[in-house]
Amino acid sequence: MSDNKSSDHPMKKPKRGRPREIDPRIVLGSADHYRIVFLQFWSKLGARLLAAQSSEEVARAVREEAADISASLDPYSDLILKIVKDPKFPRARSTSQMHFLADSLGGQGFVTPRRAREICAEERAKKRYFIVRREYYIECSCGYKGPALDGACRDCGTGELSWDLMTKDNS
Ligand SMILES: [Zn+2]
Repeated sequence: MSDNKSSDHPMKKPKRGRPREIDPRIVLGSADHYRIVFLQFWSKLGARLLAAQSSEEVARAVREEAADISASLDPYSDLILKIVKDPKFPRARSTSQMHFLADSLGGQGFVTPRRAREICAEERAKKRYFIVRREYYIECSCGYKGPALDGACRDCGTGELSWDLMTKDNS
């Protein structure tokens, strides 16, 4: 099952500058990534970001308190400042703060921080399906032809390969 959103959006003419569309899975992927990395640095980084009054102060805080991730955050100093100055930015719980910033940054500036948070919420709400079983087609010398069952013949139960197939596998 897949929600094919793209069919709802006929190709728009590209506007000046950055593309207006970004794959929601990419937004969620980077938001999740930021959530994980912020966990490591937030105890020191968080307070300094909240206190920052300029994008230069943001950049300095990132360089000094989170050197490992500064390369991935450097382009977003302005954006980070905007996000932490947002009246909606959570004041109390550090987990909420990390999540708010991570989800807002997920759009990587291609969409507004608010839209990025909406996209994350939408993607997280989607039910995800996984393949929990994978079978392949077999032909058995007992006469059975069709999908295998746990890699074995559904009729006679053998899992042994013919000499032909074994030698082919090893070549
Ligand atoms: Zn068989």
